[in-house]
Amino acid sequence: VVQVEYVGDLAPYDEEKAALAEIGADLTVVRAADADALVEAAHDADVIWLEWTPHLTRDVMARLPRLGLGIRWGVGYDQFDVAAATELGIAIANAPSYCTEDVAEHALALMLALSRQVVLRDRQGQQGLWRHGPVPQRRLAGSTVGVVGLGRIGSRVARIASAFGAEVLGYDPVATTTEAPVRRVGFEELLRGADFISVHVPLSDGTRHLFDTDTLALLKPHAALVNTSRGAVVSQAALVAALEAGRIGGVALDVFEQEPLPADNPLRGRDNVILTPHEGANSPQAMRDLRREVCGATVEWLRT
Ligand code: NAD
Repeated sequence: VVQVEYVGDLAPYDEEKAALAEIGADLTVVRAADADALVEAAHDADVIWLEWTPHLTRDVMARLPRLGLGIRWGVGYDQFDVAAATELGIAIANAPSYCTEDVAEHALALMLALSRQVVLRDRQGQQGLWRHGPVPQRRLAGSTVGVVGLGRIGSRVARIASAFGAEVLGYDPVATTTEAPVRRVGFEELLRGADFISVHVPLSDGTRHLFDTDTLALLKPHAALVNTSRGAVVSQAALVAALEAGRIGGVALDVFEQEPLPADNPLRGRDNVILTPHEGANSPQAMRDLRREVCGATVEWLRT
């Protein structure tokens, strides 16, 4: 088994190594700068755990003769060419639910940070400024929250926002039932009606730039947009244009079209924009669940 890490320290993975050793398997932890480095590091691997990059493209998988299982170290499959894997007889898996609560809480934290202007007010408080504008605060209770994507995370966001006293609109063209307390509406109605919008869709050809110049133009001018799903669901160019023109009230992002976010990115340095560096899933509890889910699936697959 080869674990391909993306950023951070190479973790010791003692528990995983012990669990794999019990069935005669071993774990090598690597970091690979590009596809060639990944192919070299994983040439003899039966299983790859892939955190983020380099992606498991058709070319990479075709050059890994032993590969039988690729597991995405997280939620989503956007790093894998699933169709190519299927053709090549390589099984693909991920860990769909290890951080549902974490990302939902992060989305609500960002929504509250925008509604109460926590980040800006902290900067003012730290600098000794007293009762200083310029961005207005808004009350979440009684506001309308639009949740785009009513899967695991979106449903939970809907429940928490509802507990804050917000009216929740929900849009999902696929999920036909949800226990979340939402009023189901069409996408345009949600965009026109919401004071806060939280995005929880997978990245696919159908959702890439779901938020573009045309759809952002439908928002109320004071509306706040929170994206903790995938960066490319929102067109950064369209978002920056809306911010420049004062056509959007606030933006909070955990995910970006380009990650890590470059130092000269035009989203930086704005009073009504909050940026967190793709940390929505992160907590010790989530990391424990992720490791258990991935390792458990690997042991089960290797045994059969
Ligand atoms: P999920 O699969 O449970 O739910 C996604 C929902 O989106 C589904 O119900 C699907 O029907 C719906 N959907 C698909 N296309 C849509 C569209 N065009 N419009 C509206 N809805 C649409 O996924 P989840 O576990 O809730 O995760 C949601 C997103 O969060 C994913 O993009 C995932 O990659 C992202 N995520 C981010 C982090 C982070 O660290 N920030 C961590 C985990 C997951």
